[in-house]
Amino acid sequence: MSHEESASQESLWTIYVRLWGRAEGAGAYVKYEAHAPFGEAGWFHPHVDEPSRGPEIVVVRAHYEERSAPTKGRTDKTPVSLMLELCTLAHEVGHLRSWLKGNRTKEYESALLTMGGRLAAVPRRTPLLDSGDRLLIENEEKSAWQLGRRELRDLGFVDWNDFDTAERAGLAVYAEILG
Ligand SMILES: [Zn+2]
Repeated sequence: MSHEESASQESLWTIYVRLWGRAEGAGAYVKYEAHAPFGEAGWFHPHVDEPSRGPEIVVVRAHYEERSAPTKGRTDKTPVSLMLELCTLAHEVGHLRSWLKGNRTKEYESALLTMGGRLAAVPRRTPLLDSGDRLLIENEEKSAWQLGRRELRDLGFVDWNDFDTAERAGLAVYAEILG
């Protein structure tokens, strides 16, 4: 690895740690989980019906070193893409911010529940959701990417091509699921 690359990895790591800390500062419990129900790279859950638990952000990483603190690698030494995880974390912090602003409505939560239930059903219904629910889900996803982008900009992030790619991929997953 060249000197320049290690310098850039180092600043990426600094941003990763600071963003994780920001999410905690905003009241979220941030942690790694090894398994995602639908193959997600991460998720945000406000746990509104479970106030003792509070809002949580999950970054999916197999063989994580520690559950509730940012770490650079896995216990089995398989390399981790901190860039991809950082983009995921930023997106989930975007969902956290959206929720804190009151943008996550009851209607959105209900659309999310419907989506989860129908994703688990075989055969899968197409289209998965009616157009109203679909729009609620799509708008919240776009908004979370926008708010996540703002977080990274504040922290001095510069690798916007990587973020744009992650955003496109994230939105494409929903486009595919929603049919
Ligand atoms: Zn999302």
